[in-house]
Amino acid sequence: MPKRLDLDLDDSEVNEFISIMEEIQQEIREEERKWLEEYAASETRNLESEVDWLQQDEVICPLCQKNPLHQIRSVIFCACGVRIDVQQDGLTLQHLKSELHKGLETHEQGCLVSPSFSLLHFLENTNLAITCEGCNFMYIVV
Ligand SMILES: [Zn+2]
Ligand SMILES: [Zn+2]
Repeated sequence: MPKRLDLDLDDSEVNEFISIMEEIQQEIREEERKWLEEYAASETRNLESEVDWLQQDEVICPLCQKNPLHQIRSVIFCACGVRIDVQQDGLTLQHLKSELHKGLETHEQGCLVSPSFSLLHFLENTNLAITCEGCNFMYIVV
């Protein structure tokens, strides 16, 4: 039987839980920092300007359309500063990619304007959304 966190834990258990969560967050940030450093150091990357970012094998960040997205555990991030925690959803980059394509295809069926991408912050959550001002389209990718 899973415990109800709000009812059955006493203060010390709650504190322990919180400190474990904080440790995990710190580890993720540390791994993230290392990855970004390595990424910045690898100057051999040379994407041709005409390459369509949506056709890459890597999942390119829709916001900067330049750097690949990277995932460490539940956090998807980009060298440009994008950071999405998909903890609740258990999603992967491939999932994000297919949702991204699905959203863009859905939009293309009814509108020719190039949609834009944005991060929506709601409470603790960050979502990646495709929006279009031309037709009031909005699609939550993750
Ligand atoms: Zn980016
Ligand atoms: Zn549109």
